[in-house]
Amino acid sequence: MTIRKRVPCKSDILPCPNCDGAGKCDFSVQCGDFKPKIEGDLTTMSKKQRRYIENPKTKGSGVICCIPQEGVCPIGCADCFFQSGRSYLEPLEDNLPNMPNLKMAKGRVVRVNDGNDSNNKPYLVLLATDSYVDKFYNTSVPENLEEFDAPVVLTVNPAENTDCAAVLVDPIPSNLMFVRARVNTWNLGLIDTIVDYYSSKEVPIILTFMAYYTNTIKSGHEADYTYRQRTLNSYWVITQEAWDRVMARYTGNKWVYSCGKDANAFACHRCGNCLREYYATKERLREVK
Ligand code: SF4
Repeated sequence: MTIRKRVPCKSDILPCPNCDGAGKCDFSVQCGDFKPKIEGDLTTMSKKQRRYIENPKTKGSGVICCIPQEGVCPIGCADCFFQSGRSYLEPLEDNLPNMPNLKMAKGRVVRVNDGNDSNNKPYLVLLATDSYVDKFYNTSVPENLEEFDAPVVLTVNPAENTDCAAVLVDPIPSNLMFVRARVNTWNLGLIDTIVDYYSSKEVPIILTFMAYYTNTIKSGHEADYTYRQRTLNSYWVITQEAWDRVMARYTGNKWVYSCGKDANAFACHRCGNCLREYYATKERLREVK
């Protein structure tokens, strides 16, 4: 991977892509504040950049994943695959950052942060992904979204908010590609609110059906889940009947899609939502310019 110097910077450290050349940047932090973090992370990245492990979920789909940061994501979503100790990137301390080189990324859309948050050290994320031609950023932090130089996917009910609260962004950032809603069979009132709001704003909503490793299925909902293999590991996964019931709530709403084709199909290569919405967002941004 090549780290290119895009903008002049009066500092003697590696410039942030957002630097205005006068020692300030869009994140309102002095350049010097970046020095220890950027040097540490990029030193590690350069050592590990030749080793890339592909996410089996996106294999063969035209989407390729990258994680520019080290360590676990600070957002801390319960039952996050990447923090569960069972991710394809374990041990995380050896395999992060996980960045495809430019040859691997050529002709593909890079999904930035399948297992971390792009608003975690955003200056590092922008710098590390600068050379990718086609990319979109994942985040669950609804801040500075238009500062990202590509489409953004926002998870609106992360972590402890999964069952009880969602971010309803207003105004809608021009580069918002879609919102991702974490769904189970007991948070459907919240999902209705998310769907109503973002549909009215003509923002696609991708429903991601939660899988649970530990037995956290809410009492009364056990019949809607079954224990089975999902991508790499075994989890409590929604049944097809319950999946159909949830999706039926949104029949006729053209803004609602599921992540994956049904309760048993999680691979991206038969889905295509991310590619479709990536290029739709790029087209929209082209018209705005
Ligand atoms: S929406 Fe589809 S393409 Fe995007 S991550 Fe989910 S399965 Fe993959």
